[in-house]
Amino acid sequence: MPSLHARTRLSAESIFSRMSRLAAQRGAVNLGQGFPSTPPPAFLLEAARRAVGTVDQYSPPIGLPALREAVAQDLEVQPEQVVITCGATEAMFALAQTLYGPNPGGQPDELIAFEPVFDIYLPQTVMVGATFVGVPLNLSAEGWRLDIDALCRAVTPRTKALIVNSPFNPTGSVFTRAELQAIADLAREHDFWLISDEVYDELYYDVRPVSLRTLAPERTFTVGSAGKRLDATGWRVGWIVTPEGAAPEVAGLHQWTTFCAPAPLQAAVAEALGIARTSGFYDGLRRSYLKRMQLLAAGLRDLGAEVFTPQGTYFLTARLPGVDAERLVTEGGVAVIPLEAFYRTQPAPPEMLRLAFCKSEAEIEEALRRLKGFLSR
Ligand SMILES: *Cc1c(COP(=O)(O)O)cnc(C)c1O
Repeated sequence: MPSLHARTRLSAESIFSRMSRLAAQRGAVNLGQGFPSTPPPAFLLEAARRAVGTVDQYSPPIGLPALREAVAQDLEVQPEQVVITCGATEAMFALAQTLYGPNPGGQPDELIAFEPVFDIYLPQTVMVGATFVGVPLNLSAEGWRLDIDALCRAVTPRTKALIVNSPFNPTGSVFTRAELQAIADLAREHDFWLISDEVYDELYYDVRPVSLRTLAPERTFTVGSAGKRLDATGWRVGWIVTPEGAAPEVAGLHQWTTFCAPAPLQAAVAEALGIARTSGFYDGLRRSYLKRMQLLAAGLRDLGAEVFTPQGTYFLTARLPGVDAERLVTEGGVAVIPLEAFYRTQPAPPEMLRLAFCKSEAEIEEALRRLKGFLSR
């Protein structure tokens, strides 16, 4: 038999799937993988029921016109700049295909991302034959912040793109305007692309995040996700806002992998984005997540944890000495993600965990009860 390609070493089960599997086996409360345990809004489900049976054939690869319009209106860009993808995951892959690669006969392009790093960035970089360069965020009493000196040191003549994620998974940090301006200035100076993963753009607890696109519109690709905005991570509808003129090329590559995102779900999301925009849905979403974040953070502090309060996302990081994530899920009945899982090239700070609070208040309370029991054994 011929062998499978060496790239299959990238296909190992992710820590998220593993923890969710262990959680299901052990009946554990799952604060590991970041998917809501509460249902999506009714207006989204009703729109989908109407769309199935009405919009059932291929959409153009670049996306259903109504959804491109809705995204453009939300993000204050032109519809011509919008490409619809199968979730932000495929959006990021389409951009990897579009922006960097191996350069046969020369050195591979380099892609920079911050660590702790969201899990898809490194494998996607390797899959397109480029080199992944990790730059650590700085952790101090002020929380997780940009280390601009470390970033400057990582830039080389081969740097082709930088992924910025704000609000940031896994830390929950939101980059300030000054931090983003420093990134934009560096990208201009060294002439590289910016990919801004903004899937949590509506999930913030402090000030509305600045979009990197507004500081460097000529070189920023913005990525978004209906799954994250509308509590429906299984829907697989996402988008890219490209600099002017680049959308046809991105859509042209995306047509060779998935062709188009599911057309009826695109139609439903187009309608739902309009309802969400005008009905105050996102305010309600933020209030609901803020309440659960405060519940989890206060409970963890009561148990002696050092909690780094997030400014966005539905994740928080906490230092909880003596808690091993594997033992916690099998013996304590609570699934969390060890922060080491998000470090691929840099050393991880010790005893740190990422906890998801996109779960019901009852689940969070139960997790805290079990954690207390686990700690007092
Ligand atoms: C969830 C997530 C994604 C992927 O979004 P999908 O639309 O579900 O593919 C991308 N980036 C970050 C930071 C995420 O947390």
